[in-house]
Amino acid sequence: MDNKISMDNKISDDRRSFIKKVLNGTIGGSLLLVFSAGAEIFKSPEDIPAQIPSLKNKEYEITKAHFAFIVDITKCIGCGSCCVADKREYNVADGYYRTWVERYLKDYDDNVYVDSPKGGLEGYQSPREDIDVKVRDTFFVPKLCNMCKEPPCVQVCPIGATFQTPDGFVLVDHKRCVGCGYCIQACPYSVRFLNPVTKTAEKCSWCYHRVRKGLQPACVSVCPTGARKFGDLNDENSEVSKILKGPGVITVLKREMGTFPGLYYIGARREVI
Ligand code: SF4
Ligand code: SF4
Repeated sequence: MDNKISMDNKISDDRRSFIKKVLNGTIGGSLLLVFSAGAEIFKSPEDIPAQIPSLKNKEYEITKAHFAFIVDITKCIGCGSCCVADKREYNVADGYYRTWVERYLKDYDDNVYVDSPKGGLEGYQSPREDIDVKVRDTFFVPKLCNMCKEPPCVQVCPIGATFQTPDGFVLVDHKRCVGCGYCIQACPYSVRFLNPVTKTAEKCSWCYHRVRKGLQPACVSVCPTGARKFGDLNDENSEVSKILKGPGVITVLKREMGTFPGLYYIGARREVI
Protein backbone atom coordinates (compact mmCIF):
# COMPACT_ATOMS: atom_id res chain seq x y z
CA MET A 1 0.00 0.00 0.00
CA ASP A 2 1.29 3.45 -0.89
CA ASN A 3 1.88 5.33 2.30
CA LYS A 4 2.71 8.63 0.69
CA ILE A 5 -0.58 9.87 1.95
CA SER A 6 -1.45 13.08 0.19
CA MET A 7 -3.75 15.78 1.36
CA ASP A 8 -3.48 17.47 -2.01
CA ASN A 9 -6.85 16.19 -3.04
CA LYS A 10 -8.38 17.82 -0.04
CA ILE A 11 -7.27 21.31 -0.97
CA SER A 12 -7.11 22.36 -4.57
CA ASP A 13 -4.79 25.02 -5.88
CA ASP A 14 -7.82 27.21 -6.54
CA ARG A 15 -8.94 26.93 -2.97
CA ARG A 16 -5.44 27.61 -1.73
CA SER A 17 -5.18 30.77 -3.76
CA PHE A 18 -8.66 31.81 -2.69
CA ILE A 19 -7.71 31.41 0.96
CA LYS A 20 -4.56 33.43 0.39
CA LYS A 21 -6.67 36.26 -1.02
CA VAL A 22 -8.99 36.10 1.97
CA LEU A 23 -6.08 36.22 4.36
CA ASN A 24 -4.49 39.06 2.44
CA GLY A 25 -7.70 41.01 2.78
CA THR A 26 -8.59 41.13 -0.92
CA ILE A 27 -11.68 39.04 -0.17
CA GLY A 28 -13.75 39.65 2.96
CA GLY A 29 -12.31 37.85 5.99
CA SER A 30 -15.78 36.76 7.11
CA LEU A 31 -15.83 34.33 4.20
CA LEU A 32 -13.40 32.24 6.21
CA LEU A 33 -16.45 31.00 8.02
CA VAL A 34 -17.25 28.78 5.07
CA PHE A 35 -14.23 26.65 5.94
CA SER A 36 -14.16 24.32 8.87
CA ALA A 37 -11.91 25.19 11.76
CA GLY A 38 -8.56 23.44 11.72
CA ALA A 39 -8.98 21.66 15.04
CA GLU A 40 -9.37 18.21 13.52
CA ILE A 41 -7.36 15.27 14.72
CA PHE A 42 -6.26 12.82 12.07
CA LYS A 43 -7.57 9.43 13.04
CA SER A 44 -5.84 7.00 10.70
CA PRO A 45 -2.62 6.70 8.67
CA GLU A 46 -4.54 7.53 5.52
CA ASP A 47 -5.32 10.95 6.96
CA ILE A 48 -1.76 11.98 7.71
CA PRO A 49 -0.31 14.42 5.19
CA ALA A 50 2.50 13.35 2.89
CA GLN A 51 4.97 15.73 4.46
CA ILE A 52 5.86 13.09 7.00
CA PRO A 53 8.63 11.35 5.10
CA SER A 54 9.11 8.14 7.05
CA LEU A 55 5.52 7.07 7.42
CA LYS A 56 5.11 3.34 6.85
CA ASN A 57 2.20 1.12 7.79
CA LYS A 58 4.32 -1.10 9.97
CA GLU A 59 5.60 1.95 11.78
CA TYR A 60 2.08 3.03 12.51
CA GLU A 61 2.17 0.77 15.52
CA ILE A 62 4.04 3.62 17.09
CA THR A 63 0.75 5.45 17.53
CA LYS A 64 0.09 3.17 20.45
CA ALA A 65 2.81 5.13 22.18
CA HIS A 66 2.29 8.21 24.32
CA PHE A 67 5.38 10.30 23.95
CA ALA A 68 6.69 12.81 26.45
CA PHE A 69 9.65 15.18 26.46
CA ILE A 70 11.40 16.15 29.66
CA VAL A 71 13.95 18.93 30.09
CA ASP A 72 16.07 18.72 33.21
CA ILE A 73 17.21 22.25 33.90
CA THR A 74 19.51 21.06 36.66
CA LYS A 75 21.56 19.17 34.06
CA CYS A 76 21.72 21.71 31.23
CA ILE A 77 25.14 23.32 30.90
CA GLY A 78 24.19 25.66 28.05
CA CYS A 79 26.62 24.08 25.61
CA GLY A 80 24.27 24.61 22.63
CA SER A 81 24.88 21.17 21.11
CA CYS A 82 21.12 20.63 20.91
CA CYS A 83 20.64 23.84 18.95
CA VAL A 84 23.42 22.90 16.53
CA ALA A 85 21.90 19.44 16.00
CA ASP A 86 18.51 20.97 15.28
CA LYS A 87 19.92 23.50 12.86
CA ARG A 88 21.71 20.73 10.99
CA GLU A 89 18.70 18.43 10.97
CA TYR A 90 16.39 21.04 9.48
CA ASN A 91 18.72 23.47 7.75
CA VAL A 92 17.16 26.25 9.77
CA ALA A 93 17.76 29.71 8.30
CA ASP A 94 20.14 32.04 10.14
CA GLY A 95 18.42 34.01 12.86
CA TYR A 96 15.61 31.48 13.34
CA TYR A 97 15.40 28.74 15.96
CA ARG A 98 13.15 25.72 16.34
CA THR A 99 14.74 25.13 19.72
CA TRP A 100 16.88 27.47 21.72
CA VAL A 101 18.53 27.77 25.13
CA GLU A 102 18.04 30.75 27.42
CA ARG A 103 20.52 31.85 30.08
CA TYR A 104 19.14 33.09 33.39
CA LEU A 105 21.29 35.16 35.72
CA LYS A 106 20.14 36.16 39.18
CA ASP A 107 21.79 38.82 41.31
CA TYR A 108 21.77 39.21 45.09
CA ASP A 109 18.68 41.44 44.94
CA ASP A 110 16.77 38.69 43.15
CA ASN A 111 16.77 40.57 39.84
CA VAL A 112 16.68 38.15 36.91
CA TYR A 113 18.45 38.75 33.61
CA VAL A 114 17.60 36.53 30.64
CA ASP A 115 19.38 36.39 27.31
CA SER A 116 19.72 33.99 24.41
CA PRO A 117 22.27 35.30 21.91
CA LYS A 118 21.96 33.36 18.64
CA GLY A 119 19.50 31.11 20.46
CA GLY A 120 22.37 29.67 22.45
CA LEU A 121 23.67 28.09 19.26
CA GLU A 122 27.27 28.92 20.09
CA GLY A 123 26.99 27.99 23.75
CA TYR A 124 27.51 30.27 26.71
CA GLN A 125 31.23 30.47 27.00
CA SER A 126 31.58 34.07 28.08
CA PRO A 127 29.85 36.23 30.68
CA ARG A 128 27.33 38.93 29.84
CA GLU A 129 29.16 42.19 29.31
CA ASP A 130 26.09 44.42 29.14
CA ILE A 131 25.24 44.13 32.83
CA ASP A 132 27.43 44.93 35.80
CA VAL A 133 26.02 42.96 38.72
CA LYS A 134 27.27 40.36 41.10
CA VAL A 135 25.71 37.10 39.94
CA ARG A 136 24.37 34.78 42.63
CA ASP A 137 22.95 32.08 40.39
CA THR A 138 23.05 31.00 36.74
CA PHE A 139 21.04 28.38 34.95
CA PHE A 140 20.03 27.45 31.42
CA VAL A 141 16.57 26.72 30.07
CA PRO A 142 16.09 24.90 26.75
CA LYS A 143 12.89 25.83 24.93
CA LEU A 144 11.01 23.97 22.19
CA CYS A 145 7.49 23.09 21.13
CA ASN A 146 5.42 22.00 24.12
CA MET A 147 3.29 19.62 21.98
CA CYS A 148 0.20 20.87 23.77
CA LYS A 149 -2.70 18.45 24.13
CA GLU A 150 -5.03 21.44 23.73
CA PRO A 151 -2.98 23.42 21.20
CA PRO A 152 -4.15 26.94 20.40
CA CYS A 153 -2.09 26.81 17.20
CA VAL A 154 -4.27 24.00 15.87
CA GLN A 155 -7.46 25.67 16.96
CA VAL A 156 -6.79 28.90 15.06
CA CYS A 157 -5.47 27.45 11.80
CA PRO A 158 -8.23 28.22 9.28
CA ILE A 159 -7.38 25.35 6.92
CA GLY A 160 -6.10 22.56 9.11
CA ALA A 161 -2.49 22.95 7.99
CA THR A 162 -1.49 22.64 11.63
CA PHE A 163 -2.81 19.40 13.02
CA GLN A 164 -2.42 16.75 15.71
CA THR A 165 -1.42 13.17 15.04
CA PRO A 166 -2.97 10.25 16.91
CA ASP A 167 0.27 9.80 18.83
CA GLY A 168 0.13 13.31 20.19
CA PHE A 169 2.38 15.38 17.95
CA VAL A 170 1.41 18.80 16.63
CA LEU A 171 2.75 19.21 13.10
CA VAL A 172 2.58 21.59 10.16
CA ASP A 173 1.69 20.46 6.65
CA HIS A 174 3.78 22.87 4.61
CA LYS A 175 1.88 22.02 1.44
CA ARG A 176 -1.33 23.31 2.95
CA CYS A 177 0.02 26.22 5.01
CA VAL A 178 -0.71 29.61 3.46
CA GLY A 179 1.51 31.52 5.88
CA CYS A 180 -1.28 33.57 7.47
CA GLY A 181 0.59 33.56 10.79
CA TYR A 182 -2.45 33.01 13.00
CA CYS A 183 -0.75 30.03 14.68
CA ILE A 184 2.37 32.08 15.31
CA GLN A 185 0.34 34.66 17.19
CA ALA A 186 -1.69 32.02 19.03
CA CYS A 187 1.22 30.00 20.45
CA PRO A 188 1.68 31.05 24.10
CA TYR A 189 5.25 29.75 24.03
CA SER A 190 6.44 31.71 20.99
CA VAL A 191 7.95 28.62 19.39
CA ARG A 192 6.62 29.26 15.88
CA PHE A 193 7.99 31.47 13.13
CA LEU A 194 7.41 32.09 9.46
CA ASN A 195 10.08 30.26 7.48
CA PRO A 196 11.75 33.00 5.41
CA VAL A 197 12.29 30.62 2.49
CA THR A 198 9.06 28.63 2.31
CA LYS A 199 6.87 31.40 3.78
CA THR A 200 5.07 28.77 5.82
CA ALA A 201 4.76 28.33 9.57
CA GLU A 202 7.56 26.36 11.15
CA LYS A 203 8.34 24.99 14.57
CA CYS A 204 9.98 22.12 16.44
CA SER A 205 8.37 18.76 15.61
CA TRP A 206 10.11 16.68 18.28
CA CYS A 207 11.74 15.17 15.17
CA TYR A 208 8.64 13.23 14.19
CA HIS A 209 10.40 11.71 11.17
CA ARG A 210 13.14 10.32 13.42
CA VAL A 211 10.73 9.11 16.08
CA ARG A 212 8.74 7.19 13.45
CA LYS A 213 11.95 5.33 12.71
CA GLY A 214 12.52 4.61 16.37
CA LEU A 215 15.19 7.29 16.76
CA GLN A 216 15.45 9.90 19.46
CA PRO A 217 14.94 13.55 18.48
CA ALA A 218 18.21 15.01 17.20
CA CYS A 219 18.63 17.37 20.15
CA VAL A 220 18.13 14.53 22.65
CA SER A 221 20.65 12.31 20.91
CA VAL A 222 23.48 14.86 21.20
CA CYS A 223 22.90 16.30 24.66
CA PRO A 224 26.06 15.39 26.59
CA THR A 225 24.46 15.64 30.02
CA GLY A 226 21.08 13.97 29.48
CA ALA A 227 19.26 17.24 30.09
CA ARG A 228 16.84 16.40 27.27
CA LYS A 229 14.87 13.18 27.63
CA PHE A 230 12.28 11.67 25.33
CA GLY A 231 10.31 8.47 25.47
CA ASP A 232 7.08 6.54 25.69
CA LEU A 233 4.93 6.94 28.77
CA ASN A 234 3.13 3.70 27.89
CA ASP A 235 6.42 1.90 28.48
CA GLU A 236 6.68 1.76 32.23
CA ASN A 237 10.40 1.04 31.98
CA SER A 238 11.18 4.16 29.96
CA GLU A 239 13.15 6.89 31.68
CA VAL A 240 10.37 9.43 31.14
CA SER A 241 7.81 7.09 32.76
CA LYS A 242 9.98 6.57 35.78
CA ILE A 243 10.61 10.29 36.14
CA LEU A 244 7.00 11.36 35.78
CA LYS A 245 5.77 8.65 38.16
CA GLY A 246 8.57 9.36 40.62
CA PRO A 247 8.65 11.67 43.61
CA GLY A 248 10.45 14.59 41.94
CA VAL A 249 8.81 17.95 41.27
CA ILE A 250 7.82 18.26 37.63
CA THR A 251 6.35 21.40 36.09
CA VAL A 252 5.01 22.59 32.77
CA LEU A 253 5.25 26.09 31.38
CA LYS A 254 2.25 28.44 31.64
CA ARG A 255 -0.03 25.83 33.18
CA GLU A 256 -2.68 28.52 33.58
CA MET A 257 -3.10 28.66 29.80
CA GLY A 258 -4.82 25.26 29.83
CA THR A 259 -2.74 23.97 26.93
CA PHE A 260 -1.68 20.75 28.74
CA PRO A 261 1.91 20.55 27.47
CA GLY A 262 3.53 17.22 26.71
CA LEU A 263 6.84 18.92 27.55
CA TYR A 264 7.81 18.76 31.23
CA TYR A 265 10.56 20.49 33.18
CA ILE A 266 12.62 19.29 36.10
CA GLY A 267 14.10 22.02 38.26
CA ALA A 268 12.16 24.91 36.74
CA ARG A 269 12.31 27.88 39.11
CA ARG A 270 9.47 30.32 39.50
CA GLU A 271 11.28 32.77 37.19
CA VAL A 272 10.87 30.28 34.36
CA ILE A 273 7.29 29.05 34.65
S1 SF4 B 1 22.90 19.90 24.61
FE1 SF4 B 1 22.02 19.46 26.63
S2 SF4 B 1 23.44 20.47 28.08
FE2 SF4 B 1 23.89 21.32 26.05
S3 SF4 B 1 22.62 23.18 25.96
FE3 SF4 B 1 21.39 21.54 25.03
S4 SF4 B 1 20.16 20.74 26.71
FE4 SF4 B 1 21.79 21.95 27.64
S1 SF4 C 1 3.86 25.05 22.03
FE1 SF4 C 1 2.87 26.41 20.55
S2 SF4 C 1 3.31 25.48 18.56
FE2 SF4 C 1 3.68 23.89 20.10
S3 SF4 C 1 1.71 22.78 20.25
FE3 SF4 C 1 1.70 24.36 21.87
S4 SF4 C 1 0.66 26.12 20.91
FE4 SF4 C 1 1.27 24.74 19.23
